[in-house]
Amino acid sequence: MQQVELVIQNHTGLHARPAKVLANLAKQFRADLSIQCGEKRANAKSMLSVLTLGAGCGSRITLQASGEDEADALIRVSEAIIAGLGDVLEGAAPAAEAPAPPVPVPAAAEPQAPAEPGVIRGVAAAPGIAVGPAFHYRVAEVDLDQIEQRPRDGFLSLEQALADARAQLDELNRKMERQKLGAEGAIFGAHSELLDDPELLEGVRAKVAAGQWQAKAWQATIDERANMLAGLADAILAGRADDLRDVGRRVLRLMLKLEDNQVALPETPVVVLARELSPSDTASFDTSRVLGFCIVNGGPTSHIAILARAKGLPAVVAADESLLEVAAGATVILNGNDGTLAVDPAPAALDRALRSQDRFLESRRLAKEQAALPAVTLDGHHVDVTANIGSLANAVEAVKMCADGVGLLRTEFLFLDRATAPGEEEQYEVYRGIAETMGTRPVIVRTLDIGGDKPVPYIRLRPEENPFLGVRGIRLCLGQPALFRDQLRAILRAAPAGNLKIMMPMVSDVQEVRQARALIEQYRLELGVPPVQVGIMVEVPSAALLAERLAPEVDFFSIGTNDLTQYTLAIDRGHPELAKKHDGLHPAVLRLIGMTAEASHRFGKRTDVCGELGSDPAAIPVLIGLGVDELSVSIPSVPTVKAQVRSLNLADLKPLAQRALECATAQEVRDLVKTHTN
Ligand code: PEP
Ligand code: MG
Repeated sequence: MQQVELVIQNHTGLHARPAKVLANLAKQFRADLSIQCGEKRANAKSMLSVLTLGAGCGSRITLQASGEDEADALIRVSEAIIAGLGDVLEGAAPAAEAPAPPVPVPAAAEPQAPAEPGVIRGVAAAPGIAVGPAFHYRVAEVDLDQIEQRPRDGFLSLEQALADARAQLDELNRKMERQKLGAEGAIFGAHSELLDDPELLEGVRAKVAAGQWQAKAWQATIDERANMLAGLADAILAGRADDLRDVGRRVLRLMLKLEDNQVALPETPVVVLARELSPSDTASFDTSRVLGFCIVNGGPTSHIAILARAKGLPAVVAADESLLEVAAGATVILNGNDGTLAVDPAPAALDRALRSQDRFLESRRLAKEQAALPAVTLDGHHVDVTANIGSLANAVEAVKMCADGVGLLRTEFLFLDRATAPGEEEQYEVYRGIAETMGTRPVIVRTLDIGGDKPVPYIRLRPEENPFLGVRGIRLCLGQPALFRDQLRAILRAAPAGNLKIMMPMVSDVQEVRQARALIEQYRLELGVPPVQVGIMVEVPSAALLAERLAPEVDFFSIGTNDLTQYTLAIDRGHPELAKKHDGLHPAVLRLIGMTAEASHRFGKRTDVCGELGSDPAAIPVLIGLGVDELSVSIPSVPTVKAQVRSLNLADLKPLAQRALECATAQEVRDLVKTHTN
């Protein structure tokens, strides 16, 4: 037996997707593989078992392997864990998937203080306003005691029900892909994975061997495991209990040959109210019949919330229990922006909400229809709206969404989750493919942004106590000349195939820029290729504060508001409890953005924003008012961001931005923007 100690670096811990990657990899070895985390032990080949460890970010685990290929298994599995198991560590978009929906996820899952009478409070989970009649969505429970009395010859075997469930989930996944919801469809891929889980199936077989009826054994095993998951301290992992119950119900109904348990929705559109919804229910909602939903259970990071955001359905979760007493058919206003449900509102409130709902629906429809139009303000100021991408497939998608270019190509996807670094040739092929796909549109290629918190097995770094403040980004590349050379040469060679620019992350002083530029020039001369523009990310406060010293040394700035906010406010960008405070509209962050834009313009250079703030509707007027020239946003946000720019007047935004700089808190800025836009 061999073992190794590791620390989980994934921001959301060993959640469903990394657990699935881990279990699949572990299944490729004959050796038994187990993981010890505190008092708990898991079979590494069982996704469910790995989930029940509740291993969050920073958890120390011991990986053990025993069997004939134990050494190989230990190396391969530990390398994959270190590389993030398919998660791009530190919150960057996973390579193979579409970017996350644009909406910032609300932080706390706690309902707020009671509101005025007739208003039920919950937590905002997906934006938008929906007005309509309340409809209670109640899934009929299966009474197993009663069914057990019936003759059993018509029932399916567990194996057959599992196979049918797998086929249904594959079809659901494909349907989501057809609706351009491929990334969200992956949720059902994870469901499918549960059907093969060795621990789950062993649990059922043990009960059947002890004499229990198969359907009851299945249900009891699902309940046990789901309760175990629900009891985990980590809210995201606990949320996976919903997924397991959803899969459990699907298989049980197939076994018992019961009709699909979807509730028949009325023909006319309704606002769905329920204690809980399963991801399958949410995925199946026809948006012409369901205007939005409000539920008692669930959290803003649950799969239900992710699906609602992807489908554009306003949603409120974690609502007060009184929701279940709302009279069926009563008129309700569901507000997915502030997390409330108003029941039987006064005529004036209803009128306002109906107008907001109309505006919301119309603006979304128009934005898509007019995605090809440029983002020019009412008074003629042009703002480039580009996409943040992480793969060639994303580039294709960005062109479809009419992005003006790529404001941020995160190259990490080429480097993570592998045993050796990609060579110059491999990188060249990928960058060339992206350059060709984007044609004349500019593509900003960010050099490798990994480091202490995004470790890769082939770069040996000393463990750091504070990886966010350690050897990462440009600091790492300058210390790894061979790695940096391969990447720079690959970009320089690919640049003539399109319009590539180079950007360095985590720059904190002029010296780093000079060093990197000297290398770029050296390789360019060696290759005999034309010069390319070179810019830096402004994401460390020192870079913003010294923007006027940096501006003459670069061709452009791109503000990484995710990190700039983290370093300015001293709030870990992935901290679950502090998420609400990690707000880039904090006046301190805005002042740094303003200084950067101003300094760049003084030297005739451009400033872009490529962090999440660039797609926050409340931030867009302020950023443009501060002089930001380009917003680089997640691909699905491109049409709506363009549309919002077209609705603004630069002449109004400049004074608005100046007033925002005078505010004391991010909330004050948000209130100011709200008053300004109402
Ligand atoms: C940022 O920090 O805002 C940014 C865009 O870079 P990343 O999220 O990849 O760190
Ligand atoms: Mg960053």
